[in-house]
Amino acid sequence: MRPFDYSRATDPGDACRAAAAPEAAFVAGGTNLLDLMKLEVMAPGALVDISRLGLDGIEPEGDGLRIGATVTNSDLAADARVREGWPVLSRALLAGASGQLRNKATTGGNLLQRTRCPYFYDTDTPCNKREPGSGCSALGGEQRNHAILGTSPECIALHPSDMAVAMRALDATVAVQGANGEHRHIALSEFYRLPGDTPHLETRLMHGDLITAVHLPAAKGDRQVYRKVRDRASYAFALVSAAAVVRMEGGRIAHAALAFGGLGTQPWRDPEVDALLTGEAPSEALFDKAGEVLMRDAETHEGTAFKVPLGKRVLKAVLAEVTA
Ligand code: SF4
Repeated sequence: MRPFDYSRATDPGDACRAAAAPEAAFVAGGTNLLDLMKLEVMAPGALVDISRLGLDGIEPEGDGLRIGATVTNSDLAADARVREGWPVLSRALLAGASGQLRNKATTGGNLLQRTRCPYFYDTDTPCNKREPGSGCSALGGEQRNHAILGTSPECIALHPSDMAVAMRALDATVAVQGANGEHRHIALSEFYRLPGDTPHLETRLMHGDLITAVHLPAAKGDRQVYRKVRDRASYAFALVSAAAVVRMEGGRIAHAALAFGGLGTQPWRDPEVDALLTGEAPSEALFDKAGEVLMRDAETHEGTAFKVPLGKRVLKAVLAEVTA
């Protein structure tokens, strides 16, 4: 690991000013960043500790909740209001990582965690995300944990979060404070970039931007399910996961919001799938059609082709459960 400076910020403005330095980065739980630093995938010259800025509260905001950026994944999953009103989020969090990691990992850090593509972590191999223009080792290599939606010829890396998948289905918004002190909100649907020919640019954040909170509006559906398919029962990333938020009225689907992990280069939500389901009576034929729509632009490789049928089956199973 390369030497770096460390400072502990005392308030968000102080943190943003400190992180505006060219080689600075924020650290909170550090569950991903410290691994990346040990491997020298990331080598910030200065770490600005934001763990004591008072951003660790969960407060009511309108009909929803304001989740501070440094609320831990464990605290968020266990919050009685989240379990009652947004259970899909609690279940997604508990499906992620291990208990020890959830105790340290934060809400903001979870959104910003980097891909687990093995070549991204191996500095001896080409990787466009780590070193733009160097190539993509995954295209001729290990692909089991890679994406089939939103990919580009430059990068097929998955976004690994479970939490963010549930938040996409719940229409979450990210609150940001910029290095200039300006506050702004970014819908999670706009937060992530597709890789295109710049896979090293992953979000709409600018250098020095601090995530201060995530806002969850009131859930539009009372039926909520999170299902995660993975290679082992715990402590594994999703091969495919799905978050469903549904409201039924008179035997028909009045609201449908589905988001997916393990499939996309970002937590994936397809408005055409939601639109297809809305207003319809649940049926196997409808669920099959939804699977076809979801996968209409899938780009597979030899190691990821299994995700098309698996994704359709997960979608179907989740819809059957949530509409029953
Ligand atoms: Fe790098 Fe993306 Fe290719 Fe993985 S898939 S090697 S992260 S460019």
